[in-house]
Amino acid sequence: MSDRHVNVSNTENLRKYMTLDQRGKVQAEYIWIDAASNVRSKTKTLSKAVKSVDELPEWNFDGSSTGQAPGDNSDVYLRPVAIYPDPFRLGDNILVLCETWDSDGTPNKYNYRHEAARLMEAHAKEEFWFGLEQEYTLLDSDNWPYGWPKNGFPGSQGPYYCGVGSGKVYCRDIVEAHYRACLYAGINISGINAEVMPSQWEYQVGPCTGIEMGDQLWLSRFLLYRVAEEFGVRISFDPKPIKGDWNGAGLHTNVSFNATRAEGGMKAIEASMKKLEARHFEHIAVYGEGNEERLTGRHETGSIDKFSYGVADRGGSIRIPRQVAKDGKGYFEDRRPASNADPYQITGIIVETLCGGV
Ligand code: ADP
Ligand code: MN
Ligand code: MN
Ligand code: MN
Repeated sequence: MSDRHVNVSNTENLRKYMTLDQRGKVQAEYIWIDAASNVRSKTKTLSKAVKSVDELPEWNFDGSSTGQAPGDNSDVYLRPVAIYPDPFRLGDNILVLCETWDSDGTPNKYNYRHEAARLMEAHAKEEFWFGLEQEYTLLDSDNWPYGWPKNGFPGSQGPYYCGVGSGKVYCRDIVEAHYRACLYAGINISGINAEVMPSQWEYQVGPCTGIEMGDQLWLSRFLLYRVAEEFGVRISFDPKPIKGDWNGAGLHTNVSFNATRAEGGMKAIEASMKKLEARHFEHIAVYGEGNEERLTGRHETGSIDKFSYGVADRGGSIRIPRQVAKDGKGYFEDRRPASNADPYQITGIIVETLCGGV
């Protein structure tokens, strides 16, 4: 029996309880990001359905259990920032994305959203749009890619990217379940594809405006972890899960703003390249842990030590899509961020570099 049947939630048994009457009460799943970029959540019962985030109470949690506060001052506060329909509990039940705040009224050290939101607001008139391509790997209970031979490797890369058929793709059930859960929750998921390394997949979220990009991506990650729980499969955002001749996992970040989308936008794109080049290492510093294993200049990446860009170049830091060069306007793709990077930090530093800090 394959190991996916170990430690799987008994979703079939659960189903009959999920149809029981809630007697007018609503379940709100408060979600936040911890010190190590894991998502955490806990549930609060509300006395009635809510329509907007302003109707939700603040809450708190034990920050000493998540690496977010010391034991002698452990309360961290949860401030709701966005709500989504809950694809697991359905009905009026909701998912509540939160920022984390300390008891002295300052943002928690790991609350990267606060700073990003300030930047987005200050430069709102530029109308930044982002599109993220989230790559990830499915692992079995031994932390080995799902479906790979136990003490070995599958055939080398080639048949797996956008693959169809047994032995070419794994866990399409999880991928499909996640896709639908995202649509239900109102996530602007724009597509999915199987990746070059077997058991690696990608989904795209966007275009999203400003801070909404980080919000939606974090919510989509929550949904992915949560869906995979029910299938007994682990999700890894490690940017180089398997050393050697296997593609790493990234979080390509597509960017545009008013000036790049307007007639003659290539000028604004070129100007952006200059600014991004000057701050290459500041960007790399917030583009994910372990990214040096991935940005080798091989496997469709640029080298971590050197900024480069080009039209249709998948071996550069930044790629300008062929169609954009042809149209003379549009967007560019920052290929440097690792799959485990924080979307608030990525989108925040891009706005800061292109428009200035606040
Ligand atoms: P790739 O060819 O690199 O695999 P994908 O099709 O996977 O590209 O992803 C492209 C991403 O770019 C999507 O998330 C899409 O929403 C986003 N995107 C498209 N147009 C724009 C734009 N004008 N500004 C920002 N992002 C955009
Ligand atoms: Mn893609
Ligand atoms: Mn990809
Ligand atoms: Mn891409």
